[in-house]
Amino acid sequence: MPTSICPECSEEVYVDAESEQGDTVICEECSSKLVVVGLDPFELDLNEESGGDGASDDDDLNSYGYDDQNY
Ligand SMILES: [Zn+2]
Repeated sequence: MPTSICPECSEEVYVDAESEQGDTVICEECSSKLVVVGLDPFELDLNEESGGDGASDDDDLNSYGYDDQNY
């Protein structure tokens, strides 16, 4: 089973090999809800959409370099 690194606690997180972009994974180490943002290799990001605090998510998108990904 492929693994990725939890952005919250930097521990390895097991990701289902059939996961798709946008799927959520729970980190067993810190119980953070993570979202699959990349597939090759697997890349995880914190899912903060449940916060409801009105914090802007848009800034995050710009820092990921989606242009670097080849599909
Ligand atoms: Zn974690």
